[in-house]
Amino acid sequence: MPAKPKCEMNYTVRQSARARHVWLRFSPLGELIVVVPKRFDVKRIPGIVEQNRQWITRAATRVRERRETWAQKTPAKLPSRIVLPALALEWFVEYRPEVSKRVSLSERISGRIVLSGNTDDREACHAALFRWLHRRARDFLVPELTAVANQCGFSIRRIMIRSQRTRWGSCSRSGTISLNLRLLFVSPDLVRHVMLHELCHTKQMNHSPKFWSLLERHDPQWRDRRRRLRATWRELPTWLDRAPPY
Ligand SMILES: [Zn+2]
Repeated sequence: MPAKPKCEMNYTVRQSARARHVWLRFSPLGELIVVVPKRFDVKRIPGIVEQNRQWITRAATRVRERRETWAQKTPAKLPSRIVLPALALEWFVEYRPEVSKRVSLSERISGRIVLSGNTDDREACHAALFRWLHRRARDFLVPELTAVANQCGFSIRRIMIRSQRTRWGSCSRSGTISLNLRLLFVSPDLVRHVMLHELCHTKQMNHSPKFWSLLERHDPQWRDRRRRLRATWRELPTWLDRAPPY
């Protein structure tokens, strides 16, 4: 009979088309994630986790300690209201403490976001709000960018929603456009401006005069919008300052 494991290890399994072998990592919240290639025999996972028990225990302590020091230095700010001009929507955020280890978030039709559970854990509340924001950004920005691209005759390979600290968007040589989830906090004309800027990069991978004249054709007011956008960066709500790297 196989030896009984000393104690149950909690982990989440993620399949990845790009993974070549199994690897273990920790999420920013300290959760163990086992990344496996597609078609990997999941029955082998408990054995692999068990084999790496020592490393996992040590790494978990390190992640927890790092998280605690970080949280002490910069406690997470939490919003009581979220206004998203890009969607013309706003919510009041309610924190409801309940006996639970976790924090769960639900969005109500009444214009409220309710966080319930261990709401004393500010980090967990912050992470839940960011996950929600990421979802909202994806649901809005992906179809919107696709529509703008179709309207203006651009083609995109891939769209990613990210939380970049210094830029609204970017475009890679392979044709992937990344958009910052913070775009939900700006007005629709500025969102469109950022999209057109990145779309123009699919044809001009630089800021040459050719690039600006292409942008001018699609967005004649780009100068004014670019200026407003710069100012907007400073007006973003402070709870966004400390974003987990989603
Ligand atoms: Zn650019």
